[in-house]
Amino acid sequence: MMRLGVAAALVDGVYRRGDVEIDDTGRVAAVGVPGRGRGLAVPGLVDLQVNGFAGVDFLTADVEGYVGAGAALARTGVLAYQPTLITSAPEQTIAALTIAGKAEAETTQGGAVGARILGVHLEGPFLSPERPGTHPTELLRAPDTTLARQLLTAGPVTQMTLAPELPGALDVITACVRAEVLISCGHSYATAAQAHAAFDHGARMVTHLFDAMRPFTHRDPGIVGAALTRGDILLGLIADPNHLAAETIQLAFRAAPGRVVLVTDALAASGCPDGHYRLGEVEFDVAEGVARRADGTLVGSTITLLDAVRHACDAGVPLESAVTAATHTPAALFPGQGVGLLRPGDPADVLVLDDSLTVRTVLHHGAPLDTEP
Ligand code: ZN
Repeated sequence: MMRLGVAAALVDGVYRRGDVEIDDTGRVAAVGVPGRGRGLAVPGLVDLQVNGFAGVDFLTADVEGYVGAGAALARTGVLAYQPTLITSAPEQTIAALTIAGKAEAETTQGGAVGARILGVHLEGPFLSPERPGTHPTELLRAPDTTLARQLLTAGPVTQMTLAPELPGALDVITACVRAEVLISCGHSYATAAQAHAAFDHGARMVTHLFDAMRPFTHRDPGIVGAALTRGDILLGLIADPNHLAAETIQLAFRAAPGRVVLVTDALAASGCPDGHYRLGEVEFDVAEGVARRADGTLVGSTITLLDAVRHACDAGVPLESAVTAATHTPAALFPGQGVGLLRPGDPADVLVLDDSLTVRTVLHHGAPLDTEP
């Protein structure tokens, strides 16, 4: 039996004073244990949108790359994630999905110490040319159920981002929902009515709310207004000051308690020095941590998910809500997989944070990881 020596823990999103006990099999034995400790224990973080990390771009990575990126993510506190593939030609996406499937098998069966792959998030190719963000416009496609099914069978797809207003999108949504793939609306110029139609067909989430979509205005609330006011829709949010103002972050948390999912939209450049990098076919530069194409378009972010939690707190979001948005809420999409939870009986995938919300220790199945890269 081991104690973490913390003052409190976030258990099921609720602040519990007291220490945490880990048993000899690496599971959480007890919470709220009397004792005088320091810092806060929180569940391992869950990131649903990671394009790459630590020099690895998932569109072109090999299995070894995934293992390295997973280990680097774990050092930042992310213990489960969805590698995310930017729009590319279907053959390239299919090849990348095949590798992702191998990487998933290798990292779960091989017992690699690192962030666990929950499945792949396909961002594209059915996105709006009106809001491509950094996706190559010439590779965007009209929604097509045959191609969608081809992609779903090529690898372990768990989420697809599409623009719901495009002709044929509702059929793709129906096909994906039948295959139990989470549909998230994004890179979209959808009106509120078009967004509601997608949600009524089973879309459950919006990808990086506010970014790359029709803006909210008072008579034309668009996809943003539809998503904020519907209790059944999750809201992905890049809580990075370069993407969203503090008020915007706080607005989402206030309007949608328990529905915000913090994501990083991290890049190969994340966890690396400033410099020149690639995201699929897209080249970009990172200067002072901000990734932009030569034309100035933002390209994902280089923040860690714990940075996102800290930025949300700095924006005025309560700590419990910010941590829940990076653990419990995304983890609820993967029931029974034991991720994003800190409860007696669960594997001790736990972070110990100090008062400034930096990682002191990361426990993977009860064993401390070396957090020095
Ligand atoms: Zn995007």
